[in-house]
Amino acid sequence: MDNKDRIEEVKENDDKVVVSKNFIEQIIDKDLEEGRVKSIVTRFPPEPNGYLHIGHAKSILLNYGLAQKYGGKFNLRFDDTNPMKEKTEYVESIIEDVKWVGGDYEDRLFFASDYFDHMYEAAIKLIKKGKAFVCDLTAEEIREYRGTLTEPGKNSPYRDRSIEENLRLFEEMKDGKYPDGSKVLRAKIDMASPNMNMRDPVIYRIARMSHHNTGDKWCIYPMYDFAHPIEDAIEGITHSICTLEFEDHRPLYDWVVRELEYENPPKQIEFAKLYLTNVITGKRYIKKLVDDGIVDGWDDPRLVTISALRRRGFTPESIQNFMELCGVSKSNSSVDYAMLEYCIREDLKLKRPRIMAVLDPIKLVITNYPEGQVEYLEAPNNQENDEMGTRQIPFSKVLYIERDDFMIDPPKKYFRLFPGNEVRLMNAYFVKCESYVTDENGQVTEVHCTYDPETRSGSGFSGRKVKGTIHWVAADTAVQAEVRLYENIVDEEKGVYNEDGSLNLNPNSITILKNCYIEPSIVGEVPPASFQFLRQGYFCLDSKDSKPDHLVFNRIVSLKSSYKPV
Ligand code: ATP
Ligand code: MG
Repeated sequence: MDNKDRIEEVKENDDKVVVSKNFIEQIIDKDLEEGRVKSIVTRFPPEPNGYLHIGHAKSILLNYGLAQKYGGKFNLRFDDTNPMKEKTEYVESIIEDVKWVGGDYEDRLFFASDYFDHMYEAAIKLIKKGKAFVCDLTAEEIREYRGTLTEPGKNSPYRDRSIEENLRLFEEMKDGKYPDGSKVLRAKIDMASPNMNMRDPVIYRIARMSHHNTGDKWCIYPMYDFAHPIEDAIEGITHSICTLEFEDHRPLYDWVVRELEYENPPKQIEFAKLYLTNVITGKRYIKKLVDDGIVDGWDDPRLVTISALRRRGFTPESIQNFMELCGVSKSNSSVDYAMLEYCIREDLKLKRPRIMAVLDPIKLVITNYPEGQVEYLEAPNNQENDEMGTRQIPFSKVLYIERDDFMIDPPKKYFRLFPGNEVRLMNAYFVKCESYVTDENGQVTEVHCTYDPETRSGSGFSGRKVKGTIHWVAADTAVQAEVRLYENIVDEEKGVYNEDGSLNLNPNSITILKNCYIEPSIVGEVPPASFQFLRQGYFCLDSKDSKPDHLVFNRIVSLKSSYKPV
């Protein structure tokens, strides 16, 4: 059941407010009822081979949320058993991102690599039980012997080695006697199993690689399917929640914890990955964009890594609400990116100040306003939230307005400025366009208006009405700034991939506006402060590039939405 059903159910039971449970909660309820577990322990198990993305946020909040809800515990565990792609930089970024998004693991931080001794002993236990053997087949031979989905595999010629020989060889593997790839340890299960994962899977390999945590202590490393259940069992994880592609691995997971005779073994539960339209999830693809220099690092605001979302101006609350709306499902589907935008708009709507900023300026000169005069006008900080109070904004003879708020020759239903037309300057006066100035290319450079002092905002003026209201900033006091506008980095309708398999990138994914003007209330604000720029959208100060003498804003999201909540 996804969250749509859930919300409807809540409505039907309005007075009782019964929220139905998702399928994982139902499993947990049953395990508690039947006494299989007393309290629950969940974990988030990232591999430190890249930065976390929005999909990981889902897993973090799901696991953390369950632990919270059931008064259980939540572990952050680095699944660092494959040193090839793992780095300390990634460990640090992951810790920061897990905390930021709201996965409070307290002091429950673990590293799978701290269990290498335990895993080695576990392998010996299997060998002693006759459940594992050292195999000398090459990787290619192992593949050939494995069979296919329609044909059973063949037993390895090394399958019947004696326990003593296996113990000796495995120890020698560990001691570095054999070259990389020359031998592996395999579980002895069933080469005829319809499940390919059960056909004597490799559980240890020889690989001389330095590990970010254990250095050169080991030259053999456990495989994921063997290591993961052991990690869970050691930490007393009760519900090991992973994504659907591991469904076929569950029999092997169960085999490992059963053969190793763990008391109260953990249980694997699979749910559908979160996919979003028009964005790139998948560490592999994100890493390629970073490595190829197509984006400005893992936190480029066009990405949906957690660090990019933070830099773009998303809040933890908006991401948490988004995950609530998405719900938990057993079948794969894509969520509209617009729903994430909806969540950040909703979160900022009543919390953040609404100020005036002109992104594509032209001058507006008020010909009948006294030269050199500055007056201060009162403006609400947030029209929908009176508690945010008011501020004073300077007004004077020369202002900036948005280029597209003026037209020489407007179409019908254009209610903004054009020769002869009168509009309201937001929080200020009515102005009437009397003339304009163009440069040698015919580009408008100045609009000349007269103002009517009677029409000051808040004065109760009711003499006549105007149809348009535009925003402005006073030229003398406005702060010049850079504003970056973003679009999706790929467009699903045009196809995410080109014929040659490369990504079909949107050439307009970033637009940089260097000559924007912001009202002076912005002075002193520092990243990650965010604002609504009236009529334009939500913007935040960029944490990487914004400096007090050169403000840089990211557009988080525009004001218009294509998403309608249920
Ligand atoms: P990617 O596919 O992006 O490379 P991964 O699954 O390889 O991600 P891990 O570090 O192994 O990355 O993942 C840590 C946890 O996050 C796993 O439990 C994994 O199932 C979960 N996870 C990864 N991607 C998603 C997603 N899109 N939606 C929900 N959970 C995810
Ligand atoms: Mg992975």
